[in-house]
Amino acid sequence: MELGKLIVFTGPSGVGKGTLLRAILEKYPELEISISATTRPPRQGEVNGKHYYFVSRDKFEAMAAAGELLEWAEYAGNYYGTPRTPVEEKIQLGKFVILEIELVGAREINKTFPNALRIFVLPPSLAELERRIRDRAQDSEDAIARRLDRAKIEIDAADEFDVQIINDDFDIALLNLEHAIFSPGIY
Ligand code: 5GP
Repeated sequence: MELGKLIVFTGPSGVGKGTLLRAILEKYPELEISISATTRPPRQGEVNGKHYYFVSRDKFEAMAAAGELLEWAEYAGNYYGTPRTPVEEKIQLGKFVILEIELVGAREINKTFPNALRIFVLPPSLAELERRIRDRAQDSEDAIARRLDRAKIEIDAADEFDVQIINDDFDIALLNLEHAIFSPGIY
């Protein structure tokens, strides 16, 4: 059976990665989105096992030590990581699996899956990114500041990725994402 494809989807917090992923998944329900483990507390409306596996720091550290994570990173004071087995199984079954992860994890995946397609989503500007994070109104002032600091570092690394998508006009960003995923050989 033909192997599937691993797609790394990165971009600063608040850039709209989640909305883009929901839209592409609606159009292509056969795509698989990996569900990460995190030590961050759930935001309102987030469901364990659907948006994330919400785990304690002890549990997360045990998973990492046991090699159960494909990659992991600390972000704004919490751990985030990709459970290994579901991703490997789906790739073996020929599926396209999307990892929505931050920069450190994306770089790690580059070592283990050099053939992964790496996509970076950019905001139209830093001011617009800050506005979007504040609009979400789900993070403390401290968390917002940490996310913005990290955003600057991540944006500087956008060139490391195979494809850069600016999320200004949403429909155009979605078309670009679709094109990147389904046009083999272009990137
Ligand atoms: P949030 O707290 O906003 O859900 O996520 C914060 C950041 O962690 C986002 O940039 C998101 O892409 C990233 N992230 C989510 N899951 C993972 C993961 O499994 N591994 C890594 N390295 N980053 C992740």
